[in-house]
Formats: sequence, C-alpha cells, structure tokens
Amino acid sequence: MPTTPACRPPAVTTIRPALVGKLNERQVLRVLQARGPLSRAEVARQSGLSPPTVSKAVASLLRGGLLEEADAPEAARGRPAPKLRLATASAQVLGIAVDAGHCEVVAAGLDGRPHPDVTAVPTPPTYPTLLDALEAAARERMARSGVTTLGVGLSLPGLVDYRKGCGVLSPNVPMTNGHTPAKDLAARLGVPCVLLQELHALCLAERHYGLARGLDDFAVLDVGTGVGMAVMTGGRLLTGHSGLAGEIGHVTVIPDGGRLCGCGNRGCLETVASDKALAARAAEKLGRRVDVDEVIDLLKLGKVDLTAELAEACQYLAFGVAAVVNLFNPAALFVHSRLFEAVPGRFAEVVAEGGRRALPPSFADCRVVQGQGSQRLGAVAGVVQYLTDAVAPELS
Ligand SMILES: [Zn+2]
Repeated sequence: MPTTPACRPPAVTTIRPALVGKLNERQVLRVLQARGPLSRAEVARQSGLSPPTVSKAVASLLRGGLLEEADAPEAARGRPAPKLRLATASAQVLGIAVDAGHCEVVAAGLDGRPHPDVTAVPTPPTYPTLLDALEAAARERMARSGVTTLGVGLSLPGLVDYRKGCGVLSPNVPMTNGHTPAKDLAARLGVPCVLLQELHALCLAERHYGLARGLDDFAVLDVGTGVGMAVMTGGRLLTGHSGLAGEIGHVTVIPDGGRLCGCGNRGCLETVASDKALAARAAEKLGRRVDVDEVIDLLKLGKVDLTAELAEACQYLAFGVAAVVNLFNPAALFVHSRLFEAVPGRFAEVVAEGGRRALPPSFADCRVVQGQGSQRLGAVAGVVQYLTDAVAPELS
C-alpha cells in the first residue's frame, strides 16, 4: 500500500525528526483516531500506556502540530480535564482528486472531517497547466490565517507506479502519464504530497470514514468511465509489485468481436459494464452522441428505455462482483456507481446475480453494498495516514 510513496516529499517543518520512531506517540494517535477527543487519563486507559508516557507523547504531538487541546489547561481548574483531539482548528490537510472533466480540492482536519466547501476546477489539457491549476487551488485553501497545512493527498485515475511515484497509463488524464504530480506539487507548495491511485483512495475513504471502519478485509468496485477495483487485505492495500494490481476492468469477457477498450484491447469488462459502455449503447439507440450525465438524466426522467442495455451491463457487472468475491474473500464489497442512483432496483439485481455466479461459501461471507466514500476524501485519508506513519511506522 502507499504508506511509503516513492514521491516522498521534502521534510515536513511541523513534524520534527525527533518525533519519528516514537511508537508511543503513534499509539496515542491511534487511540484518538479511533475514539475521538479524550483526556490524558482516558488516553492512558485506552492505550495501556502509563500516564507519564502518555504525557510525554502528547507533549511531542502537540509541539508537532498533530494534536490540539479543546480547552486551555489553566482554564481547567475545577473542571473536567482538557480533552485532546486531532488538530482541526490549528492544522489542516488537503485532498485533491484529479479526474477527466474536473479536479476537486477539499480541506479537512486531521480527524478527516472535510470542510463543507469543495473547490472544483476544470481539468486543464496539459501537465504544466494542470500543475498550475492544482497549485492555485491548493494555495487558496492554504491561505487561511492561523492554520498550518500539514500535507496534501492526491488521487489520480489510471495506473500509478508507487515505486516511481508516477502516473503510468491513464486513458482519462493522459497528460499525467510519465509524470510525478505529487512530487512536483510538493516542490511547489513546500508541504508533503502523497500520491494515491483513485481506487486506493476510495478504499481508504471507506475504511477511515465510511462503511468499512474496523474492517481489515474488504474490496471496492468502482463503475464509472471504466471499472476499477481495490482490495484491502489484512489491513493493507493490495498493490502488487509496483502498484498496478486491481485492474479488473481490463479482464477479457468477450473473446471475439468485442468493443475496442481504452487499453487497446477488445472485449474488456469495462467495454460492457461501465457507464461509458452504457452511454455508447444509448447513443446507438438514440442515433446521436450522449454522455453519461445525459444518459443518467434521461433514465431518471424515464425518457429513454434502456432496459435491455442495462440488463446486459448489470449482468457483466455481476460477473465482476462474483470474481472479486471468489478471488479475495472480502468481508464486504462496496460498489460505487452513479447508475444505481438513476435505476435503484438494479443494484439488488446485480447483487442477486453476483450471488448466483460466486462460490456460495464466499458469497455468504460477504456483504455487498453501495459505497459511500469519494476520491477526494480518500486523498485526505491517504495524507492523514502518511502523517501518522511519519510519526512512527505501524507495528504488525
Ligand atoms: Zn481494456
């Protein structure tokens, strides 16, 4: 998983080298991430650390800017002990999601709770203009007075090589191919920037802030322009040798005569089970070009009958569901697709058909539900995890 991205950025001024390697501090952070604001005594009880050890760790984390106190200690006389919390008023992180049409930027506290407003900028056509746009949007968010920006998470679609920290092959944002956007953005902004493949971002969003909290073994299937997958196994993202694992969308399901895929092959799963595939079928039926947004609007308004086309797309998607369940034995599978907003009953059909196609014991062991997270929230989760790991590596 991307805990040690190859694009490790310049040193963080707010996290001092003296903190690195202090496992007690990591333990204090873990307890506060899991339990929310707590007093020092409560942290000691929850962590199993002694009160003096907790006090020392907390002092370091306060100096590092990762924690803050809800009440000033001097105001606490005769009152309950001050609560410690992950920094939300004094520090922030940014989550950036790059996609084909637009890029989104959100700020959040270290508790991962995003600030309500999201900045959306059209995705520029070249790599230098993309960096300019992301830098400008990030700087606008970093300009809040009295708030330190500790890091940035950057979600990127397509194949991401974590060893090199670069985009490898992205049909939707090809200007990032061969480039290191997180490293380049870190150099411009002067804060750490962590690169995440967008499905990994979705996985982290679900685990830290969504429906997968407490789960170590689950998977995410994202049906959009393509079909993507990410798997969390034993609490770690399955990345493969260099980060390229999970490309279920490019598994061949139609051996002969299939549609041309963005990868150059024909008959891949995403040529029949994605939003883009459904839009192509709708265009054939309507005799004109339509994009996914219009297809969804037409479906919601009941202005187009795509019963057969939807049935076919959902059947292939069910094959994907069954494949993930059989291959990875997840406790839960989170499926993201805007199509189910337009035709809600279809999700139950996909689950039912997936159940018929999967091995019964594996399917019985897995909850298949619609996902909640977003790439930008996953980018936040990724940089918070990076900052936590920078304090001390996770013991396993
Ligand atoms: Zn393909």
